[in-house]
Amino acid sequence: MLSVVKNSLTAVVFLMSLSAYASPWEASRNCHLNKSQSSGIYPEAAQKLSDLELIPRVTQGINQTKSPQNVHGTDDVIDGVPYTAAVDISVRCLDGDRDGKIKGLLTALAENGFVGWYRKNGSDGWSGADHIHAVWVKQKLKPSLEKQVNSWLEGKNGLRKDAVYQYWKPSDELKETVSGYFKKAAVSSR
Ligand SMILES: [Zn+2]
Repeated sequence: MLSVVKNSLTAVVFLMSLSAYASPWEASRNCHLNKSQSSGIYPEAAQKLSDLELIPRVTQGINQTKSPQNVHGTDDVIDGVPYTAAVDISVRCLDGDRDGKIKGLLTALAENGFVGWYRKNGSDGWSGADHIHAVWVKQKLKPSLEKQVNSWLEGKNGLRKDAVYQYWKPSDELKETVSGYFKKAAVSSR
């Protein structure tokens, strides 16, 4: 009898932990996401994205296209392998409180070492496909991404005109956290 109680308790605890880990941005089974394109992201950054259940949503990691708009090129070469700190994340299938979920995602990204912006077509200086563009701040960055991190810390949009970002504002505490990660990375990559 006792073991039955114990087993059912275990099952309840297990189910509770499952629901605790299901992130609000985890895509439902009937959501069609494009194939994940996470290659070339710094391994530590990719691990964080995995912890956040975001790998299925990654639409761009490294991209060597030579154009002024492309900031997904190499940030560092480790053991002969080029890596980028830039990552794009799909915002498909975030039904219900969509803006709440996107803002929650931007917050979670920042807590874990990424600055991010929701690029929404026609808003905040962006025209193009809707997505989140994020930058891992804990490792070496090329100048274009350093510029974006500084822009984020100043509450700006990280685009060419670098205007004030209207969609979401990180708390001062969150900015402090990110600034700490960023400074530490700058010191260690010197
Ligand atoms: Zn991007």
